[in-house]
Amino acid sequence: MSGQKPKVAFFDFTGCEGCQLNKLNFENELLDLLELVDIVEFREAMDGKADYYDIAFIEGGISTPQCIERIHDIRRRCGVMVALGQCAVSGGINAMKNLHPSEWVQEAVYGEDKYLFPSIPAQPVSAIVNVDYEVRGCPMSAPEYLHVFKSLILGRKPEIKDYAVCVECKLKENECVLDKGMFCLGPITRAGCEAICPSNGQYCTGCRGPVSNINRDGAVDMLKKHGYSTEEALKRMKMFNTNEIDKEIKWGR
Ligand code: SF4
Ligand code: SF4
Repeated sequence: MSGQKPKVAFFDFTGCEGCQLNKLNFENELLDLLELVDIVEFREAMDGKADYYDIAFIEGGISTPQCIERIHDIRRRCGVMVALGQCAVSGGINAMKNLHPSEWVQEAVYGEDKYLFPSIPAQPVSAIVNVDYEVRGCPMSAPEYLHVFKSLILGRKPEIKDYAVCVECKLKENECVLDKGMFCLGPITRAGCEAICPSNGQYCTGCRGPVSNINRDGAVDMLKKHGYSTEEALKRMKMFNTNEIDKEIKWGR
């Protein structure tokens, strides 16, 4: 990385900014981290601009023509690019709009002003430019984000998990929430959150997206055995991950 301290920037695209807020949930580590880097761009916290970034963190997905221009510009000017949160990683909940005709969605949101706000199908950042690392979750997992951030500062490759939430859940010796009669997407969802929802009486909604090469039909069969219809199972699987689950969607990658 150039210079003495790595230059770090944060950018927001289409998302709710919940991932940026989640960064503030670890005040203890944040101050130490800030000693080690120069934050050169962060719209929510400062006015500055820079020509080059060693690390660019991207929150939010790509859903307008302007997003495409902007992400290319950032990619040209950064060393390492990290997608933060499910909107940036997969399109996130924004991608539910991809299931409907674009004009219908624009009219539902903007009414007669729909033509003032050009919109394209919601896509992951990696559909447009090369992304080096991804921090999944909605919002992103703060511990995983810290791990990636620290690894990059130390010049190490971050370890990104690619096994199911169920594994973390079992390690915590939780009783399976499916066996308790609740819905759960832990068997197909990528670990890294320490199974926080099933560990706290909730079920996994799949906010970190599927593990690599999931057997979608097998997952539906598993949920059917627990009393859910195919339609219900697919609807829930698509909530955060329409682009990854709905293989019929094509958005021009
Ligand atoms: S991933 Fe979730 S929390 Fe993060 S910006 Fe998108 S909607 Fe918000
Ligand atoms: S348990 Fe599931 S829904 Fe909860 S944070 Fe982890 S991946 Fe997301």
